[in-house]
Amino acid sequence: MNRCSKAIIYTENLKNNIVEIKKCLSPQTKLCIAVKADSYGHNAILTSKLAEEAGVEFLAVATVDEGIELRNAGIKCNILLLSICIPEEYESLFKYEITPLIFDLENIKNLSDAADKYFTNNAKFKVQLAVDTGMGRIGCYPDEAGEQAQVINNSNHLILSGMCTHFAVSDSLDKENIEFTNKQYEDFEKAIENVKNKGIDPGICSCSNSAAIMNNKNMHINMVRAGIITYGYYPDDITKEYLKSVNKDIELKPVLSLETKVVAIRHFKKGQSISYGRTYVCENDTDIAILPIGYADGLLRRFSPGLCVTINGKNYPVRGRICMDQCMVELGKNHNVKLWDKVLIFGPKESGALNTADDLAKIGNTISYEVLTSISKRIERVIK
Ligand SMILES: *Cc1c(COP(=O)(O)O)cnc(C)c1O
Repeated sequence: MNRCSKAIIYTENLKNNIVEIKKCLSPQTKLCIAVKADSYGHNAILTSKLAEEAGVEFLAVATVDEGIELRNAGIKCNILLLSICIPEEYESLFKYEITPLIFDLENIKNLSDAADKYFTNNAKFKVQLAVDTGMGRIGCYPDEAGEQAQVINNSNHLILSGMCTHFAVSDSLDKENIEFTNKQYEDFEKAIENVKNKGIDPGICSCSNSAAIMNNKNMHINMVRAGIITYGYYPDDITKEYLKSVNKDIELKPVLSLETKVVAIRHFKKGQSISYGRTYVCENDTDIAILPIGYADGLLRRFSPGLCVTINGKNYPVRGRICMDQCMVELGKNHNVKLWDKVLIFGPKESGALNTADDLAKIGNTISYEVLTSISKRIERVIK
């Protein structure tokens, strides 16, 4: 654990975001919150408990172990496994009641055989069928959905409880991308139709991620799957400004702030260089604050040059390369920074930070998702 640095989780903001998401949904639409990757770095157990209290029906994880962690913490919600697991994990799915996404006749048979061994009574184990409508990731093709659903329901112990597809470009306002999303939706509807035509109940069907939840309300079907908006960030083109312009805005608040402390202040002479590669040379005599946080904590190397951090309400630039465990910040000669002062790297407005995860993403040419999930286990999550 890095004792100087911590991630504060603002519980009120998380609650606010769940309420705001629900405003986008009709009363019958179920809400699934993606808590994969430790809730995008926000502590999956905390998020899941809050979500459960707020009446969220489903939680989505990416690994079986993430699901087991939630069950061991007493979570009773439905848990949906979004990625494919290995056959060795099937028993855990049954034991911990984790609903897998499945497709592919060979995999369905493997799961069905494992269920035959595990269940001795007439129990039916719920699975959801994954359909690939254009994401180019997991799923069967829409015209295979009917047959695969039939194989599932013809097995002794499996039952189809839902269908999922995933959008590739729903966060874009580009005309071609909007058309692509519409086509994905139509193809998903066809897949659902194919299943119904076999006389099979398709169950809870979902396709909408954060972007579509806010922008494509005609695509919610029975359930939506919210990820990044839960944690207070708008996906790509579906910005707050855009949503306002089409009367669909909701008030999201970033949930996490990343902070550290000044552990040394050193005096540098004009011409002295800072950090590996000597990429920054001091232009004047100056003071340099040493921060005990680096890329192994999630402060990605590509944030420098560009990143400024906030100390006592003022912003100061990171200089030179970010190291594995430390980085350096230029204070100049006119500052009031003292040893152990708090340093804000990013966070919601009320944390006092200059940056949000979106600002860091811009500097590092990435997305808020990666900024948030990069914060490593060395950083303690403190719940506020
Ligand atoms: C991660 C994920 C989501 C949530 O995506 P956001 O863009 O964060 O809302 C939804 N569905 C699937 C299948 C996912 O993998």
